[in-house]
Amino acid sequence: EVEVQRFRAARPQSDLLFRQAKEHMADGVPMLWMAKWPGPWPVYVDVAQGAHFRCVDGIDHVDLCLGDTGAMCGHAPPASVAAITHQLSRGSTLMLPTADAAAAASMLAERFGVPSWQFALSATDANRSLIRYTRQVTGRRRIAVHDYCYHGTVDEAYATLDENGAVVSRRGNIGPPVPLDETTAVVPFNDIPALEEAFAAGDIAAFLIEPALTNIGIVLPDPGYHAAVRELCTRFGVVLIIDETHTFSAGPGGMIRADALEPDAVVIGKSIGGGIPAGAYGMTTEFAAAVRASLDLEDIDVGGVGGTLAGNAVSLAAIRATLGEVLTADAFAGMIERCTQWTAGVQAALDEFEVPWQVTQLGARAEYSFRATAPTTGSEAAHADDFELQQYLHLHALNRGILITPFHNMALMSPVTSAADVERHTVAFREAVESLYA
Ligand code: PLP
Repeated sequence: EVEVQRFRAARPQSDLLFRQAKEHMADGVPMLWMAKWPGPWPVYVDVAQGAHFRCVDGIDHVDLCLGDTGAMCGHAPPASVAAITHQLSRGSTLMLPTADAAAAASMLAERFGVPSWQFALSATDANRSLIRYTRQVTGRRRIAVHDYCYHGTVDEAYATLDENGAVVSRRGNIGPPVPLDETTAVVPFNDIPALEEAFAAGDIAAFLIEPALTNIGIVLPDPGYHAAVRELCTRFGVVLIIDETHTFSAGPGGMIRADALEPDAVVIGKSIGGGIPAGAYGMTTEFAAAVRASLDLEDIDVGGVGGTLAGNAVSLAAIRATLGEVLTADAFAGMIERCTQWTAGVQAALDEFEVPWQVTQLGARAEYSFRATAPTTGSEAAHADDFELQQYLHLHALNRGILITPFHNMALMSPVTSAADVERHTVAFREAVESLYA
């Protein structure tokens, strides 16, 4: 209650905007996720630059959410902004390629180790496209995903297991008007026998995965898990799609390069656009050839994939500049170092007050969860959730000018997040833990 009062007192302009906004948007926000923050109303932003943003009430915040990875490159990185504005004044929507297309595709190929790329509007859009291709190439109908995965608002992937082990749509989503097990098999993370059983049941075109779960806290793969996944996909002729949209935080070539993974296709979105919408998907030579052979370019539909604004000139310029000049290998080294500092700060407070929470780091991303050991499945991670405790910690941080990723206790570092930014969190987190457990 003290923290809620503190929030109310400090943010009258946000309150005013919220009340105005509610006249034409039920929750006062342009997209529902923006209503998910702690506090009585959303914080309206005035300006965001680098690792910080200032709200309309003039309060400076260290942004450890970074647009839920959309701004892992930092807000308004100068190189990306220059490329975007340059291209904007030279035309953005052409349905014809620009020189940036080849440059962006070759950078992505080098980063993620698969040679053949296409561009989309977002990671969701890229996932949808690839799912179609895998169905077309394999002639199979269903896809497999991990329980507690998130791959965007893709109907087939918006599925979970209920308490009886049946595949059902995730809460709050009606989904397509067919029983979901006709489109989707759901297997727990790190569960090779369950995966083999799902593949053996047949009709699986693709296994769409994050190499570590990042949307239910962080769940890391057991040693050998990915080698076994690769072997099963090969044995059953299932196309392995690795969605690196969030796990890109693991390093300049994502987890694919950090852990030498061997996907048939790769999805990436969010941060590569330097702050504007962009998505891309890459394919191995073999898979790209199979896709190409299955397509009839004379047919206007070309496989039911693509979009008018996909691969637009501005997003290609943004990707070229962001990968080339912002999210460089050097930048990743700094981001990971900052994240190790963040993790150490959190761990020190937990140790001091003898609080047995797990802290997990995945490169430039880290998280604390309310359980004593690292979760190995999404279900274990989900059961550690404590909404009220999380709201308190996030609001406490927000009142001290720190934004934590909602839904989880997650922090992400940008190339320009500084040691002082991290220290601000360390001090505030210690104070919060002390207020609860001293
Ligand atoms: N894939 C993963 C792994 C994600 O975490 C998300 C979003 O959080 C998406 C895809 C969808 O991204 P977008 O909403 O930008 O399409």
